Amino acid sequence: MQDKKITDLLESFQAIGRTKNQGYTRTVYDQAWCQAQKQCVNIIKELGLVPWVDEIGNLYATADLTWPKEPVILVGSHLDTVVDGGLYDGLYGALAAVLSVSQVTKSEQRLRQPLVAVIFSEEEGSRFDATFTGSQYLLERDLKGFDALDDVQGQTFGQVRQAAVAALSPFVQTASCLKITQYLELHIEQGPILENTGINIGIVTTIVGQERFLIQLVGQANHAGTTPMDCRDDACQQAVSLLADLYRELAQIPDLRYTIGKVQLEPNVANVIPGLVTFSLDLRHQDQSVLSEAVGVVAKLVDQYRAKLERTTAVMPTQMDMGLQGEIAEACQSVGLTHQFLSSGAGHDAQVMGEQVPTAMIFVPSVGGVSHVPDEKTTPADLENGQRVLTAVLAKLVG
Ligand SMILES: [Zn+2]
Repeated sequence: MQDKKITDLLESFQAIGRTKNQGYTRTVYDQAWCQAQKQCVNIIKELGLVPWVDEIGNLYATADLTWPKEPVILVGSHLDTVVDGGLYDGLYGALAAVLSVSQVTKSEQRLRQPLVAVIFSEEEGSRFDATFTGSQYLLERDLKGFDALDDVQGQTFGQVRQAAVAALSPFVQTASCLKITQYLELHIEQGPILENTGINIGIVTTIVGQERFLIQLVGQANHAGTTPMDCRDDACQQAVSLLADLYRELAQIPDLRYTIGKVQLEPNVANVIPGLVTFSLDLRHQDQSVLSEAVGVVAKLVDQYRAKLERTTAVMPTQMDMGLQGEIAEACQSVGLTHQFLSSGAGHDAQVMGEQVPTAMIFVPSVGGVSHVPDEKTTPADLENGQRVLTAVLAKLVG
């Protein structure tokens, strides 16, 4: 496996979690996720590295048989996907991290510091109402906030987490705490900027802040035929009105990105008046004060409708480390690739890591600027370019 390329590694995941729309669904701890994680373990071993797992299911790869006690440079991304997502989001950066760590480790140079690749268990929040659980756990070592969460089938995070980690434990060692000095993440851009400018590599300057909520309206479920229109307490009708107010008011805030992507009715039956509506709201902005203003607008409206507001994600806008940005720019030059600086509108594990350790992100172009859909694509040349830059940066940092 000495000469494996990143494209070969990605190809070995083409049948795992494939959907009828030719996309991929790999939500945390589900069957496809477990299968993909097992495949990552195989790759780690074939590349001559040693796999480790922690109790949330983050998978690690290092060169030594003993878990590093001294401070390490961490590099990685996440294994999970959105429902019907693409092949590259997360998985590309995770596999590239493993490949780059193996390449730098096998090179002639003596490493000044251990390198560890991480494949985070979860980042997307597509199964439970929590995001970035893998990287949050790595930094905080606390499962209490997650284990009681339910998925739509009523399974708890704790149950499925323990089963998934137990299934892997015969094949890998168990990790203890890591001391991390720097974190690097390679990722597809998921937007159109690099494709439009024709530049090879993006160096991320900031990642937008993100707040995610569940909003719940309670009415009274009742018979669709026998309940007169003026005697109804229809949760759907209330929700439609609140949604219209939210769209109108949030549109007044410049550059705010707001999305209502999930709406659930209960009992969700054609001949029953809905008694309960729950919908999600995702807010993003580069400036925390603007984000806070938007949250204030939402809270006020939700209060007017006597609805329930539950915050499920809150991540501050995060500055990437200037020194590491410079190292990436130099690495691009050293391998003959063009680069530009840009901000990220998508959330990433780098955002969580960046709150505690110097962090940087490398982007490669996304064909058509699309992501989180089956059509997500990055050309083989761009995939390899990104991985080469990652290897060059890591080699410099530990050389
Ligand atoms: Zn991602």
